[in-house]
Amino acid sequence: MTSALLVINAGSSSIKCAIHQAGTLEPLLRGTIDAIGKNARFRAAGSLSDKFAGASPPANGNHEEVTAWLIEAIRQLPGLQVAGAGHRVVHGGLRFDRPVLVTDEIVAALGLLTPLAPGHQPHNLAAIAAVAEHWPGLPQVACFDTAFHRTQPRLAQLFALPRSYADEGILRYGFHGLSYEYVAGVLPEIAGPKADGRVIVAHLGHGASLCAMRGRRSIATTMALTALDGLMMGTRCGNIDPGLILHLIRERGMSVQAVEDLLDYRSGLLGVSGISDDLRALEASEDPAAREALDLFAYRCSREAGSLMAALGGLDGLVFTAGIGENSASMRSAICEGLAWTGLRIDNEQNNGNAARISASNSTVDVFVVPTNEELVIARAVVELLDLG
Ligand code: ADP
Repeated sequence: MTSALLVINAGSSSIKCAIHQAGTLEPLLRGTIDAIGKNARFRAAGSLSDKFAGASPPANGNHEEVTAWLIEAIRQLPGLQVAGAGHRVVHGGLRFDRPVLVTDEIVAALGLLTPLAPGHQPHNLAAIAAVAEHWPGLPQVACFDTAFHRTQPRLAQLFALPRSYADEGILRYGFHGLSYEYVAGVLPEIAGPKADGRVIVAHLGHGASLCAMRGRRSIATTMALTALDGLMMGTRCGNIDPGLILHLIRERGMSVQAVEDLLDYRSGLLGVSGISDDLRALEASEDPAAREALDLFAYRCSREAGSLMAALGGLDGLVFTAGIGENSASMRSAICEGLAWTGLRIDNEQNNGNAARISASNSTVDVFVVPTNEELVIARAVVELLDLG
């Protein structure tokens, strides 16, 4: 019997899962179910993936049915003793500044945070409920995207609103913390002593944010109370004038739902290009609107990085991670071009090869590409909380 851990990262349109060996944390399976509700399919890699050959989730099943299928399929894998499950939970609010063992009381407390992450939190909690139902007694751990940012100074967390709002928890929380924690952990190997200096990590995926770190701890980030603030994203607008929301409601008579739909699902790369939320599709397009969307994405990134440099008092290192950050040499190049005033220079050959270090030898800032691994961060938390080490 191999002792193992299950990791679940339940998103709005996909569910990612991983199985790690409990002792070495070696990944035995990395799987994704995507196109949930349309024509769901399971793609898997790793030594256990052949056990799933020919297995497919209910094609038109909803989230609940697909999650139940996944849990049952893993539960029935022969030769595997799963000791616990770890979940990515987007919002931990003020209370959860580290991973916790899930109890009914904790599930109820996390449910109260749903209004702050309506597109994500319900899916995360549904996955916890599905494990409880289909695998009774399996210990579960919740790991939070907000937790890494709880080290930020108070000023970085405050909105300029009447103080009673902050007292009630209306604060800049920040997200993508599991990814930032992973990068902070591996940075010394890649960057040497500069890892503990002034570093900006750019997590550029479908969702996107920047995190300013000093001593590998978060001191500021671009996302705030919700995952809508900061950078332009795949379908989210990022930072906009709050007066625009008032304008849309007052002058256009838009409902809250219509505004949410516009800012969350119809903006960003998709909205500006009118073509796609997928960076690859825009890079392949000849349409000037696609070019403009890419230019705006890079411009917003460089500009927000400039703001974080002020919070850091300079910059020693810049790290790119997640789908766009790890793979798009042209987007990295455009963002770095916008920071050339700092003396930052990249080596085009290294950049085009997605090398680990892409800065030129004469650059004032070291620039890195680090593939993120949020699942490993969750697996480590499960080992620690269940004392499996
Ligand atoms: P998620 O937030 O869903 O985890 P990912 O980190 O997988 O997102 O990032 C998705 C984004 O990464 C998409 O915009 C996709 O186009 C982009 N991406 C993935 N691979 C590449 C690639 N080889 N070149 C350019 N962009 C890529």
